[in-house]
Amino acid sequence: MLNRVSQRRCLECGRPFGDPDFVSYSGRVENGPAYWTGEGALCSPACSTAHFKKREGEGRPLTMPADEPFPKGR
Ligand SMILES: [Zn+2]
Repeated sequence: MLNRVSQRRCLECGRPFGDPDFVSYSGRVENGPAYWTGEGALCSPACSTAHFKKREGEGRPLTMPADEPFPKGR
């Protein structure tokens, strides 16, 4: 079974989802992260930008939008 815990951290800085500084969608933790990619979540616009630039530098730019990392079971 895959360990999804690591995906609940910011891809760039490792900040755990649920941290007060982790930007949530609409400002509500239960809505999930405000920023994410197909690889995981990003805590802030700054980390989102940093991750975007890193991916471009690696020759595998982001294709948006990605699926939400934490399905809410609608
Ligand atoms: Zn971050």
